[in-house]
Amino acid sequence: MRDFTTDHHWLSINTATVRAQWPLDRIIDECAARGIRAISPWRDQVAAVGLERVAQRLHATGLQLSGYCRGGMFPGVDAASRRAALADNRRAVDEAKTLNAPCLVLVVGGLPGALAGTPVHKDIAAARRDVHDGIAATLEYARDVGMPLAIEPLHPMYAADRACVNTLEQALDLCDVLDPQRTGMLGADGNERAALGVAVDVYHVWWDPKLEAQIARAGRERLLALHVCDWLVPTRDLLNDRGMMGDGVIDIPRIRGWVEAAGFGGYSEVEIFSAENWWKRDGGEVLDTCIARHRSAV
Ligand code: ZN
Repeated sequence: MRDFTTDHHWLSINTATVRAQWPLDRIIDECAARGIRAISPWRDQVAAVGLERVAQRLHATGLQLSGYCRGGMFPGVDAASRRAALADNRRAVDEAKTLNAPCLVLVVGGLPGALAGTPVHKDIAAARRDVHDGIAATLEYARDVGMPLAIEPLHPMYAADRACVNTLEQALDLCDVLDPQRTGMLGADGNERAALGVAVDVYHVWWDPKLEAQIARAGRERLLALHVCDWLVPTRDLLNDRGMMGDGVIDIPRIRGWVEAAGFGGYSEVEIFSAENWWKRDGGEVLDTCIARHRSAV
C-alpha cells in the first residue's frame, strides 16, 4: 500500500468540496498553488466558467483530472425524456474528452421524477432496466470516443431519487453484462482499463459486508476512481453532511488497502458536500485540511 503520510502526491480534489467558496477557475489556481496535482470537476461548475477556459487553466497549471462529474440520470418519465438523457450523456462524454478526464462518472438515476419530488411510478425494476439500456447506449458512444464510464453505486438511501444502483456487486453485474470482455482502453498510467468500470466512493459502500470481495472482483481494469470523505455520527442531512476524512466512522485506509491490493494506483479524490460545516469555511482552510487529512486519515 502506498505511503500517503509524507506528501499529497495522490490527492485529488473533487471540486464540489469548495463549490460554495469559489468558481472553478479559482479552484484550479488554489489547488495548483498548493501542489495538488488533480481535480474532479462538476459539469455545472465547468459550464459556469466555460469549457474552453477550464481546459486552458488546466493546461496552464498542469493539473490533471481524476474523473469528470457526472453523467447518468437515465430513467425518464417518457421516451422523449429518456432520449434527452442519452443526448446529454453524449455531451458529457465529449466534455470529459475535451478536459482529458480518465473517466466519466455515472450517477445512474432512480425513479423517474423523484428527484424533482414527483415520482411517476414505483417500479424500481423498470428504473433499473432504463439504467441498463441507458448505459448500453452511452457505452457505445463512449467507446468510439475513447472515454471510460465509471458507474458509481450510491448508498441505498438514494435509491429513489439519485441512483438505483446501490452496491458494488450490482454495479459490477452491470459491467459484466454490458462489457463482458473488459475491453480495453489505455489508462493514463499505461495500464489497460475496461471501457466500463466503477467509481468506489467510501461514503456509499463502506457498510457493505461484501465490499472487500467485490473490490477484488472489480480488479484493476474496472477500478476507475476512488472517492473519500467520512460518515459522521450522527448524520444530519442525507446529502450535504459528509465529513472530513478522520472525523467519522469509515476505516478509509482499510478500504484503500483493498483497492490497491486489487491494482488501483490512482488518486484519492476528496469529495465532501457539507452545507453546515466545510462549505461555510474559508476555501484555503478546507484545502489545507484536505491535504493534512489525506496524510493522516486516508
Ligand atoms: Zn463520489
